[in-house]
Amino acid sequence: MADLPDKAANFIEWYLAVVEAANLSDKRYPVKGMNVWTPYGMRARRNLDRVLTTEIEATGSEAVEFPALIPETEFAKEKEHIKGFDAQVFWVTKGGLSTLDVPLVLRPTSETAIYPIFALWVRSHRDLPLNVYQIVNTFRYETKTTRPFVRVREIHFFEEHTCQLDEAAATARVQSNLGAFRRMAAAFALPYLAVRRPEWDKFAGAHYTIAFDLPLGGARVLQLGSVHHYRDNFAVPYGIHYEGIDGTERTVHQTTFGLSERLLGAIVGAHGDQRGVIFPTAVAPYEVVVIPIPSASTTQDVPSAARAVVEELQRAGRRVHLDAGDERPGAKYYRWELAGVPLRIEVGARELERGQLTAADRLGRKQAIARASLTTEIGRLLAAFDQELAARAQAAFRGAIAPAATLAELKDSERVRAVGWCGDEACGHAIETAIDGALLGTPEEPLDLPVPKACVHCGRTEGVRLALAGQPM
Ligand code: ZN
Repeated sequence: MADLPDKAANFIEWYLAVVEAANLSDKRYPVKGMNVWTPYGMRARRNLDRVLTTEIEATGSEAVEFPALIPETEFAKEKEHIKGFDAQVFWVTKGGLSTLDVPLVLRPTSETAIYPIFALWVRSHRDLPLNVYQIVNTFRYETKTTRPFVRVREIHFFEEHTCQLDEAAATARVQSNLGAFRRMAAAFALPYLAVRRPEWDKFAGAHYTIAFDLPLGGARVLQLGSVHHYRDNFAVPYGIHYEGIDGTERTVHQTTFGLSERLLGAIVGAHGDQRGVIFPTAVAPYEVVVIPIPSASTTQDVPSAARAVVEELQRAGRRVHLDAGDERPGAKYYRWELAGVPLRIEVGARELERGQLTAADRLGRKQAIARASLTTEIGRLLAAFDQELAARAQAAFRGAIAPAATLAELKDSERVRAVGWCGDEACGHAIETAIDGALLGTPEEPLDLPVPKACVHCGRTEGVRLALAGQPM
């Protein structure tokens, strides 16, 4: 039972160790950055996907699935897009023994797979809006150090693609996506910054990009996902036109919304501690683990009582696991804390005699509960656990961002920094050099921070806005 590296001092080492110790992913597959989803990791992933699916479908999006291979001729149609992805794609150039006439790209993202078909589907204003999403694997030839969930070459990816009547309708879809992400992040107990990326850092081919960044200690941030407004940048080259109400031909405006398995890495990174992972209930592979405490009692049948507890919770729709193995209870507590299970129920002879069970949550709070009101008590304890997890994450989030009035303050920063920025690209790059990271962008949702009076680089006061700077992971 090796101790985990110190999270505050060695975040990356801690992260890699905790993912491995909790058995969420197996990185021994013989292709760099292509990891194996373990049974336990898959349980978390399916719960995560359920949250994404529920929230996006509530905003009127429908599931589709497009092929993984994209002809080079389609991939190359939007010039900025291919420039942005050229160095990151895997190619399929042979079919059996023959060289393919048109090489195929293994999708790094699916705009260029989907939009030729959108051009066939959209004919009239009656076909709009068209809101569809898919959850598929995408592939990127990552050259930096790969890390489970956070930077991989085969990515479990959520992508919504939409076609709207005009620019205003596309802007409204972006706002709808921001609302959907707010509800998803609440289920994961993840606070985040929604920022509009600067021009030089927007998605290849986008009119603008809004990204969600999670502070993870120091100046470090992890991008959780993003929403893009494309205007008609893709619709023109892909010919996505429709007949308007007035009979004239118009071009759709488009949006996309992308998320990935990185959310799982964010949950591990944001909530975990020195004892292991801490899963919010919505994502936890098991919400409850039940552990019988062996006893010499002749009046209480502990194993049967433990099974009855499991069955009752399962009937109530809870994801519950019975750990009836022959290890000592202490060893089981340790293992399930490492694995991040929100709630542990201990079934012991003495408690049973009093009509009670012991409940311990992953935040270290322990109490006796009445056996007779098991289901209600578990519901209450899990809700209280989620609330406290969110409160702790929110407190860490507030402490993670601090204003900086000079470029010198950005150097060796222990926080994500809020600065004044005039909007000039040169000033933006000066800020990036000072923090040895990135100008993340300007907040898209209100932040409880004063708007600075002058640009932190040039000192100009005209057009100054609040901007955030940090070090992307
Ligand atoms: Zn400036």
